[in-house]
Amino acid sequence: METRPSILDSPIEYLKGVGPLRGDMLKKELGIFTFRDLLEHFPLRHIDKTIVNKIAEINPQTDFIQVAGTITSIELIGEKRGKRLVAEIKDNTGYLELVWFQGINWVEKILQIGSDYLVYGRVSFFNGKPQMSHPEIELRTAGIADGKNYLEPIYSSTEKLKARALNGRQIGKLTAALLPQISERDIPENIPAYIVEKLKLTGRYKAFCDIHIPRNMEDYEAAVNRLKFEEFFLAQIRLQLTRLRRHRSSKGVVFEKVGELFNTFYSQYLPFELTGAQKRVIKEIRADTAQGHQMNRLLQGDVGSGKTIVALLCMLLAADNGFQSCMMAPTEILAQQHYNGLKELLKDMPVQIRILTGSTKSAERKKVLAGLLDGTIHFLVGTHAVIEDVVQFQNLGFAIVDEQHRFGVAQRAQLWKKATIPPHILVMTATPIPRTLAMTAYGDLDYSVMDELPPGRKPIQTVHRNEMQRAAVMDFIKTEIEKGRQAYIIYPLIEESEKLSYEDLMQGYEQVKSYFPEPRYKISMVHGRMPADQKDVNMQRFISHDTNIMVSTTVIEVGVNVPNASVMVIESAEKFGLSQLHQLRGRVGRGSEKSYCILLTGSKVSQDARERIKIMCATNDGFAIAEKDLELRGPGDIEGTRQSGVLNFKLASIVNDKALLDVAKHYALEVLNADEELVHEKNAPLKQFLLSQKGKTAWSLIS
Ligand code: ADP
Ligand code: MG
Repeated sequence: METRPSILDSPIEYLKGVGPLRGDMLKKELGIFTFRDLLEHFPLRHIDKTIVNKIAEINPQTDFIQVAGTITSIELIGEKRGKRLVAEIKDNTGYLELVWFQGINWVEKILQIGSDYLVYGRVSFFNGKPQMSHPEIELRTAGIADGKNYLEPIYSSTEKLKARALNGRQIGKLTAALLPQISERDIPENIPAYIVEKLKLTGRYKAFCDIHIPRNMEDYEAAVNRLKFEEFFLAQIRLQLTRLRRHRSSKGVVFEKVGELFNTFYSQYLPFELTGAQKRVIKEIRADTAQGHQMNRLLQGDVGSGKTIVALLCMLLAADNGFQSCMMAPTEILAQQHYNGLKELLKDMPVQIRILTGSTKSAERKKVLAGLLDGTIHFLVGTHAVIEDVVQFQNLGFAIVDEQHRFGVAQRAQLWKKATIPPHILVMTATPIPRTLAMTAYGDLDYSVMDELPPGRKPIQTVHRNEMQRAAVMDFIKTEIEKGRQAYIIYPLIEESEKLSYEDLMQGYEQVKSYFPEPRYKISMVHGRMPADQKDVNMQRFISHDTNIMVSTTVIEVGVNVPNASVMVIESAEKFGLSQLHQLRGRVGRGSEKSYCILLTGSKVSQDARERIKIMCATNDGFAIAEKDLELRGPGDIEGTRQSGVLNFKLASIVNDKALLDVAKHYALEVLNADEELVHEKNAPLKQFLLSQKGKTAWSLIS
């Protein structure tokens, strides 16, 4: 399709009132290169020009306010860093102080004693006196409120731009010059008309006009809503197209039958009844692996929901269809634990399982590599060692990545190269990702959830204690140990190289030893600086109940399973994020005994940390915690989403606009379910838009 060059592609310096100098500044300071960029530089807020407040009305609750008056004094105060320009403005009710710390030269130039100004900004109180720092200021001309456009847009700007007479208000003058130059043809509708009508959305062209210079607040809000919807809708369409393309173009091995191995294990060796969620997920995976395309599935299951057995059943399914499987864990300890557990479960089954990690001895390694190549080994469990190039399979059909957030995307991709037809991939994670986030950030993955715990689990009781109550906490651990239980004591060690926290850990260890003297009590310790074999020995001693207490850093965080442990003490709990706290807590409550999680903090705890601790004490539900985490931190900080890009919406927020996201997703799916190729006439506007946005879309599907 030929696209007519649009005026929106014109360089910004060609806009009336810009020119080369200001043009350069706009590029450098705000990334505005073209008319389009300016159009997409949305206002921060609007000032209602009809509302001019009296200075006397200002009170401590006042936020943003507009006043009009005469400048009565201008004074330069302080020097160097403390230098500031202070002016006073007066209306017929009082005086207000205006302060500038930056751009002083420019302000000095435009400000004149005796002239009238319109001033807008946020009021703060300083020594009991109201003042406004860095207000939007302009000479007051007659007829500010001309009735028609009484809402004036204010844009984000920078000090350098302000010095070139482009403050948040003056950028609005550029936008006002731009809008009359563009027409509907420059901003064609991209959402199919029937959706626009059904949802009563503002048309695209009108939305771009109204978001800048609306006639009233309702029009403005409708414009914002429309543009947010567009962002969500297009993102969903793109994700779904990527997913469809993958389903269609990536050939996958076919697991056509459930056979002997799966059935035998299921009926004879499965140690418990599967939960409804486990059954459902296995069905989903079965259906997906029978299609002939490659499965790429994210399995989210709260800690302790029983993901391992799901993985095992999938591996048996693969074996029934003549394929090998591998399972990767992020640490040596976890790989070993998986291996031991799976080997035990499979001990009477005719399948061969082996382990491969960095510490596998070379003779054994050779045997494993040979067995993988000739197909005598069916299941391989391991660490990163599994994806090294020397590891070649005869016919790898299924790969499981446990606790995905420790594996990079690139490493996952390496799995694909291990077979001519890429293996099915199941990524399992207990790091709760809020549903809304998962379907946005991982929308191109298939997605299964296990939201049910095996029956009989006693909920973990979580409490907050402070330093003063340490002795009581230690006594409590003693009574649990007397009952035959075990306890974890966790120290924050964010980076293994951090010297200080390492010393904290050692100190803590000494302190624990003094509370729990040998030989009556035995203590294991594990931390990141320990050689791997020593870590394993200490871990094994705790697993086999040789020791009562495990003192550790967060290396213990993921996946470790010691059902007899009933107490989790987290030292300096205020230093941990919510999802990490939840992960750590998941190490207890794995057996039939009632378990406890004790969050220890100093007596001074920040508001944020207090909030996190409150949430932890209130709920055990990983998904609820994830939603809270998203609210508290925003999507950018949630693990694994930082680079995903799909969350970089200009206007929409997956936290605040959740309901709109659901609607957008619904319509995106409706469109594609009925018209995958976007060939229907009614979807033409959408198709054309996507085609004009090459590179952003899996557009081979629709070209
Ligand atoms: P996670 O999902 O955290 O990896 P695991 O797979 O380690 O959880 O399972 C946690 C514990 O629950 C294990 O001891 C496992 O044997 C047990 N388990 C798993 N599924 C069930 C079930 N359906 N009924 C009872 N116990 C189960
Ligand atoms: Mg696990």
